[in-house]
Amino acid sequence: MLKQKTFAVYDPHKNSLPELGSQLLDQQKQTWSQLADGYSSLDAAELRDVQCSGFSVRLQWNPARMVSAAAKVDDKSIRQRKCFLCVENLPHNQQGILYQEKFLILCNPAPIFPAHFTVSHVDHIPQALDSSVGDFLDLAQHLSPRFSIFYNGPQCGASAPDHLHFQSCPRNAIPVEVDCVDGRRRKVIKKSPSVALLKLKNYGRSVLVVESTDKDALSEFLGRFLAAWKRVQGTAEEPMVNVICTFRQMVWRVILFPRSKHRPDVYFKDGEERILISPAAVDMGGLVITPVEKDFRVVQAGIIENMFEEVSLTQETVDQIINRL
Ligand SMILES: [Zn+2]
Repeated sequence: MLKQKTFAVYDPHKNSLPELGSQLLDQQKQTWSQLADGYSSLDAAELRDVQCSGFSVRLQWNPARMVSAAAKVDDKSIRQRKCFLCVENLPHNQQGILYQEKFLILCNPAPIFPAHFTVSHVDHIPQALDSSVGDFLDLAQHLSPRFSIFYNGPQCGASAPDHLHFQSCPRNAIPVEVDCVDGRRRKVIKKSPSVALLKLKNYGRSVLVVESTDKDALSEFLGRFLAAWKRVQGTAEEPMVNVICTFRQMVWRVILFPRSKHRPDVYFKDGEERILISPAAVDMGGLVITPVEKDFRVVQAGIIENMFEEVSLTQETVDQIINRL
């Protein structure tokens, strides 16, 4: 089955992953009508910038994202549905790039970006960062310089919390990727010879940036960060986090959004008061997806500011975690 679903096998000595990704996208747009429809829908998507206090976000009205934004991700619903990332359940014409015999890089049929991939593990194993962070960093490196990679925790944005997957998009398509290199925002919190930890000032949400040229040291640091966070919250479960990673000029840059909840209260309101925003890495990064036109028209700075504050871990708790590192 996996063989049938393999468009190409990535070999770091023979080919470039961004190049293969572009070829896959071209081929899939030709052969898989659902994907072609998804990209037509993205072409019709409207954008609007909203200036908030200290930062701005870009709204994207994208009706095709309704399925994902309204997805039921509770345990019972997940158990009852057929997993859409398992190889045997992929649409007939969908194919992907086999990566290190572990992941299939697939085109996302409801794209937010002009090139949007889902990187899905070939086995049905749970979404977890701790055990996959090495692969995540490898992918960031191999997808560079054209693409970035991101991860949504099982309880804060992953639409398949039971099946390990990442997503990939063009580099700098998410505003935080650009904002986090702005010297006026960057504040170094901790620095060792191999890893630097920074925060971004005046950003309206908790965000941490970890930079390193040493993959092993970076993996170890991220593991320690998650462990310290679990200790602070007294839980064994993975804390809620969205992560975006880029690799440029031999430096990995990992952007972490520590979360306190998945969906904001306005998501659960009735009628006109409801605003269907289901924030995950892309939204927390400043590209906020509104599948409903009414929401796209009415959302103003205050709504975004409140939402970010509501779903982010408090600065106080973030500081506690850093102190425990
Ligand atoms: Zn699965």
